[in-house]
Amino acid sequence: MKREPFKRVLLKISGEALAGDAGFGIDNDVLDIIANEIKAIRDSGVEIAIVVGGGNIFRGVKGAVKGMDRASADYMGMLATVLNCLALQDSLERKNVYTRVQSAIEMRALAEPYIRRKAVRHLEKGRVVIFAAGVGSPYFTTDTTAALRAVEMNCQVLLKATSVDGVYTADPKIDKTATRFDEISYMEVIQKGLKVMDTTAISLCMDNKLPIIVFNLRERGSMARVIQGEPIGTMVHV
Ligand code: UDP
Repeated sequence: MKREPFKRVLLKISGEALAGDAGFGIDNDVLDIIANEIKAIRDSGVEIAIVVGGGNIFRGVKGAVKGMDRASADYMGMLATVLNCLALQDSLERKNVYTRVQSAIEMRALAEPYIRRKAVRHLEKGRVVIFAAGVGSPYFTTDTTAALRAVEMNCQVLLKATSVDGVYTADPKIDKTATRFDEISYMEVIQKGLKVMDTTAISLCMDNKLPIIVFNLRERGSMARVIQGEPIGTMVHV
């Protein structure tokens, strides 16, 4: 059944999504496709906040495994998200989409510092707000950042863009018998250990009744279809 279209959304894009098939760094063609999709929904009047990950460049956990201090490695991960945010901002602005990057770690020469009320104002004015540097603290992820910023911005939904078309009983790339959920509860995701987002992110959404929709970013037009209320992907809710 078709849902009501969303008016204000938070879009979470993982770093890996920007890397394309190379699996590392930023693929300009992929970036261009994503920016076009965002432009299309912005042009239709939807207010969009975006959290971008950094896994295509650096992940704190991986650094820690190799002997780095975890907190230092996490700060490197947060800086990686800034690179991705600036790349996305550049791509969007070249398409005449007005944007603001707000960073949780102050770097005034590049981005505004994160100020909640200012970010809300940008959204009201039709600017796409891109949140950089996660929550600004180590031991968190950009999924948790996405949940937090979505709640702070009063977004109606957290759109989790991935490379599969929803949440499955097992990894569909490995297990061919895996089946997709149309919808699932937060609790089931946690209890079944499904890899939607980390537990901190899921519980933040659960506590604030923020629905999550997991959808396939690689399917052209999927972002607009989700926003218009088509029942594609998997909805995680109460
Ligand atoms: N990170 C952090 N605090 C945050 C957000 C991110 O320390 O609030 C670090 C962490 O090391 C993480 C890295 O930044 O591994 C990149 O973010 P993430 O792994 O969430 O990116 P994604 O998987 O979405 O590409």
